Amino acid sequence: MPELPEVEVVRRGLERAVVGRTIGAVTVAHPRAVRRHLPGGADFASRLAGRTITAARRRGKYLWLPLDDGDALLAHLGMSGQLLVRPTSAPDETHLRVRFTFTDDDDRAESTELRFVDQRTFGGLALAEGGAELPPVISHIARDPLDPEFDDAAFSAALRRRRTGLKRALLDQTLVSGVGNIYADEALWRAMLHYARPTETLKRGQVDAVLAGARTVMGAALEQGGTSFDALYVDVNGQSGYFDRTLEVYGRAGEPCRRCGTLIRREPFMNRSSHFCPHCQPRPRRGRW
Ligand SMILES: [Zn+2]
Repeated sequence: MPELPEVEVVRRGLERAVVGRTIGAVTVAHPRAVRRHLPGGADFASRLAGRTITAARRRGKYLWLPLDDGDALLAHLGMSGQLLVRPTSAPDETHLRVRFTFTDDDDRAESTELRFVDQRTFGGLALAEGGAELPPVISHIARDPLDPEFDDAAFSAALRRRRTGLKRALLDQTLVSGVGNIYADEALWRAMLHYARPTETLKRGQVDAVLAGARTVMGAALEQGGTSFDALYVDVNGQSGYFDRTLEVYGRAGEPCRRCGTLIRREPFMNRSSHFCPHCQPRPRRGRW
């Protein structure tokens, strides 16, 4: 599943490749890909044709392309979705779901189009009415730690009020977005905190350490084009990212901690796994931190 850095890589690719362009024809090859647009695929296509894309924005793992009429094209990549800018002459991908041509291709050396490709079709596209600034359906999603407007002090206060386990809070999209399972484990190792640490016991400096850890690992992923644990993930031009050499705990169960040598442990957590160093990140005990 693409995590936030991959989605940001896609956003940057779209910013370069489609902003300022006017949509020509829209072809919905699979209705499931636009299931969140309730009036259906034909309505989706007719309302997007002729609109000019003015920006490429992101909130958490949602992307949206504001349009010149104040609406927006909203996208979620789900488990396996890709937004690809391809030469019009390139053969269709097996799992091509939606195709957008552009009207400005006469000025370009090579005609290109935007393709939404999704093998498992958990992702999807929708038209967000009046959603150019922020689509209403995603307004409940918190900003992510890489967002320049993320408020560290407000996050720290809200986290401590939540009275839950630390990792559970990090995965709560209404508190902070974009910190998936991998980045949560990596941030917690860097901050030397156990995943079950009760949030109300955290000091501001510890919350800052978690944020710093998240930013370090997410920023490194961004520089390298995303983590690409899912072989299906590729960026806007179809290039795979790579990242795994900078991971400290995720995928390293049974290998030595690079800080203390203790073997990294993996435990079940919310239908997934948590990876941590039992020495650097001791399990919290009542009254003793
Ligand atoms: Zn350790």
